[in-house]
Amino acid sequence: MLKVGIFSFAGCEGCVVEFVELLNDHQDWLKKIDFKYAKILKKSEDFTGLDVAFIEGAIVSEADVERIKKIRDSCKKLVCIGTCATMGQPAGQRNFFNDDLKKEVQFLVDRFHQLPKVLSVKEVVKVDAEVQGCPMNDDAFVKVLNGLLEEFK
Ligand code: SF4
Repeated sequence: MLKVGIFSFAGCEGCVVEFVELLNDHQDWLKKIDFKYAKILKKSEDFTGLDVAFIEGAIVSEADVERIKKIRDSCKKLVCIGTCATMGQPAGQRNFFNDDLKKEVQFLVDRFHQLPKVLSVKEVVKVDAEVQGCPMNDDAFVKVLNGLLEEFK
């Protein structure tokens, strides 16, 4: 069984919902994947010893930086799903605010201990594969996941 974790950072969770929806069409995956960490499917605490971590969402805070580093250390392959994770957008729209808008939201940035700039995942840790799209492109995701199932047997 492929030991998988599904993790959400800053985003709308649309890519993870897309993943779950795809299980309807790919029920064979249920016999091949052990969802070790997937809060959308079950109570999950332990994410050690993963073969693959799927990451949705952008990195917006120091806490996110620490968490994504821990996940990177706990998995053999790390795959970003959706443009929030791959490019930091659209979750990171504040990166493009003008100076006036940036001043307006600065109290929120401070209050919630946000980073000065929203980051994509690859700006923080090594990424092995990316699936683009908002939400992620289904066909590209199926190709990546089937490739991983083949690779890990
Ligand atoms: S890429 Fe789009 S669908 Fe996926 S989490 Fe971000 S906003 Fe939601």
